[in-house]
Amino acid sequence: MESSNQADWVARSLRSVWHPCTQMQHHETIPLIPVSHGRGAWLYDTDGKRYLDAISSWWVNLFGHANPRINAALKDQLDKLEHAMLAGFTHEPVITLSERLAALTGHVLGHCFYASDGASAVEIALKMSFHSWRNRGFEEKREFVCLKGSYHGETIGALAVTDVQIFRDAYGPLLQSVHVVESPDARKAEAGESAADVARRAAASLEKLFLERADKIAAIIIEPLVQCATGMAMHDPVYLSEVRALCDRYKVHMIADEIAVGCGRSGTFFACEQAGIWPDFLCLSKGISGGYLPLSLVMTRDDIYAAFYDSETARGFLHSHSYTGNPLACRAALATLDIFEQDNVLQQNLIKAAEINTVLMPLAQHARVKHFRQRGMIWAFDAQTDDPTFSRRFFSCALEHELLLRPIGRSVYLMPPYILDEEEIAGLGQRLLTVFNEVMAA
Ligand SMILES: *Cc1c(COP(=O)(O)O)cnc(C)c1O
Repeated sequence: MESSNQADWVARSLRSVWHPCTQMQHHETIPLIPVSHGRGAWLYDTDGKRYLDAISSWWVNLFGHANPRINAALKDQLDKLEHAMLAGFTHEPVITLSERLAALTGHVLGHCFYASDGASAVEIALKMSFHSWRNRGFEEKREFVCLKGSYHGETIGALAVTDVQIFRDAYGPLLQSVHVVESPDARKAEAGESAADVARRAAASLEKLFLERADKIAAIIIEPLVQCATGMAMHDPVYLSEVRALCDRYKVHMIADEIAVGCGRSGTFFACEQAGIWPDFLCLSKGISGGYLPLSLVMTRDDIYAAFYDSETARGFLHSHSYTGNPLACRAALATLDIFEQDNVLQQNLIKAAEINTVLMPLAQHARVKHFRQRGMIWAFDAQTDDPTFSRRFFSCALEHELLLRPIGRSVYLMPPYILDEEEIAGLGQRLLTVFNEVMAA
């Protein structure tokens, strides 16, 4: 940057950078924040103001910014191999990462296919499912099923299985039509119904669709346990075991999109573990590189891999991306897995989650809070307000209190990195309550 002047950075960014997920005109009133550096859970702007990154920079950062162990691994990798194509070549980081991830599934998902972002992983899973049925002689299995409120990314194929209107409406005419089934969202419980009852009800409605059309359906794609982008809609794990059983009975693939909920976010390393099941395809991205580099992957069963194994090139899975299996990104992922092991992270997160639950108690019991909910390292609640600008006002007010938070509609959520200390947790609870009261009073 030529100048360290904050206003100058902002003006230059607005002239030349088209920011994602943003109506750019809103930046006439909402400030754009130039980040100069990050340390641990904090981001610092060019004026020296700091913000607690309570949403892990869009759910990717697990162990803080500028993490010394991930930094060291990347510096070491930089001097060895920054990148090599993965067709016809291989390298240690991608081999070791594939082996370690397969081991985490007890080798049920024995093969790993790589890409760079979450949406591409979803595209890969959809294509692989369809193509594996085709290679086995079931060409008519070409339809997909997704859940109400689902989010699987914004490329054309991934957007087709996404049910968030604001993202898909403009592109409706471009999208393949899919089956959208009931969400097991526990908030839909009727009087006397448990979350598990809601989940069983949703599974029963899925079975109706399978009864009619399973011979045309390639796969169902779900976000296990938490549908994040629709506002952290949580469901009972029994939904996953019911879907697994239906997929087995009706010969439909189950795609678990763990891009947001994987890597310990739901409390277990993979969310599916809480239902004691494995899908046919499992997508990972976001946290897998510790929030450092773009990396995504699709894990699948060896029998699906075998459906492509042939002397004929066209029966293979020819999908590719230029940066498939990038060594730096894989090395960041290996350093991330090391931290999980060395620091016993899943156990430690249970303690942190209990502390966070304690400091959030006043919000959980707040008169204007509905559906306070938690799963692993995700917290959410719905604000009782009709104000359509609630989310933007909340974001701005939170910044004034050194918090980075971006509610989804009226759902306020926390997805903090796994490294908050007691003081940061206490501060987070107090500030969040202050911000909520200020925004609700205005
Ligand atoms: C973020 C996300 C995606 C898309 O990942 P990108 O890297 O943004 O393309 C897909 N599915 C889920 C569940 C996500 O949360």
